[in-house]
Amino acid sequence: MSARLKKIAVGLGAGVALVLAIMVIRAVGVSSYQVDVDPIATIDFDQAGATERLAAALRIPTISSRQLELFDKAPFEQYLNGLEAQFPAVYGALTAERIAGHSLLLHWPGRDPAAAPILFMAHLDMVPVEPGTEADWTYAPFAGTVADGFFWGRGALDIKSGVLALHEAVQILLQQGYQPQRSIWLAFGHDEEIGGGSGNQSVAAVLEQRGQHFAAVIDEGGFVLDGLIPEISPRPTALIDIAEKAYCTIQLTIRGEGGHSSMPPPHTTVGRISSAIQRLEANPFPTELCDPVRLQLQHLAPEMPFLPRLVLSNLWLTAPLVKAQLAANERANALVRTTTAATMISGGVQENVVPQQAGATVNFRLLPGTTPEQVLKHVRRVIDDPAIELTLGMTTYPPASSSVDSPYYRAIARSVREIYPDCVVLPTLLFGATDSRHYAKLADQVYRFHGLRLPLDDVAGFHGTNERVGVQSYLECIRIMVRMMQNLDAAD
Ligand SMILES: [Zn+2]
Repeated sequence: MSARLKKIAVGLGAGVALVLAIMVIRAVGVSSYQVDVDPIATIDFDQAGATERLAAALRIPTISSRQLELFDKAPFEQYLNGLEAQFPAVYGALTAERIAGHSLLLHWPGRDPAAAPILFMAHLDMVPVEPGTEADWTYAPFAGTVADGFFWGRGALDIKSGVLALHEAVQILLQQGYQPQRSIWLAFGHDEEIGGGSGNQSVAAVLEQRGQHFAAVIDEGGFVLDGLIPEISPRPTALIDIAEKAYCTIQLTIRGEGGHSSMPPPHTTVGRISSAIQRLEANPFPTELCDPVRLQLQHLAPEMPFLPRLVLSNLWLTAPLVKAQLAANERANALVRTTTAATMISGGVQENVVPQQAGATVNFRLLPGTTPEQVLKHVRRVIDDPAIELTLGMTTYPPASSSVDSPYYRAIARSVREIYPDCVVLPTLLFGATDSRHYAKLADQVYRFHGLRLPLDDVAGFHGTNERVGVQSYLECIRIMVRMMQNLDAAD
């Protein structure tokens, strides 16, 4: 080897050693972001009563449907009247207002009128059970069965458990003689599953008109998950959603010459729509580590064994590797990119007729920072077919990411660790959309976390078959809610 090559080799070796040294120093130097807490003595309450109240709520089919003429208001009346009857202390002490027909706003006035209030949210409606799948359920979806240690039924996870746990928490605090310093508000929309355009949007408009502002809004979203991150097992992960993806739908339509299928053009309208979808699937959005996900990895790093900690505490170098690993995982892929899902397709009236028109609906979930206009541009470029018309459909504009350095984030983290002391609390990005977006203008911080604990596999019950919640998990969720109300009340 020539002297010059030797010099380069030595230089390269020294460079690699330096990079490794920096990586190790950073990995060793990271300290935990977990809030230190003393586990609290158990919070006593009527557990049998709480169990029966949730079971009763699960027997009421408060289904919202996109076909508005199918909306049946009777179950909503039954549910709202039932809550009033089940929680006399709550409805005795708080003011209750019905808004937009079947949405509910509760107000628990604080001792200090100058203290910024907190708003807790959930929704009263649920998605239907897909016709034809009823028999696949272990227990009937609207029977409110409590068996094998679980509540079974549509709405158990999403989100009658949240509505009831919030009521239970207020009732427990009232029975303890607790008086909040800040006002505590609770908002329950009746049409979250179809966009919340009537329910929580109306509640937010009423509050805005009255000049109401909140220090923090707490909506549904994150859970305490077992088995999410094998490297830290058996510790559960509590996910506090500090941001949510925006939602946008684009309709693709093509109009062309119809005719007899015995003399077809080389590509029919159906063929061209199909090829557009195929191109969209073959050209996903690029991967990206957005701020909420970076924060998640940063908070996770100190809890990990040495090697993954080395990777996660050196994102300046390892980001491409981390993005590729997350993208390779079906679930985690949605954390690192704007996703594309072709959900509906139409076209054709008869087998021997070339259709004059065909269409498809594609639903996108946008990373923070990506706009619907950028999505349209991406679609236009990728499908590369000027004959296909693009129409922007339903679009949401969620609030900006909330802070992990706020006393309100820490109050939520504290509450969950008081009940599950070994859990790892992580900020993250919610893939779905929540009603909390209607409050973006009314709140400094928006977090999505209710505190139910479940094994990763049970997440499939969301809008699916065998939706269920562990009885113990629900009772602990009530305790977390009690502590969230107290800790958020005291946060400053
Ligand atoms: Zn929900």
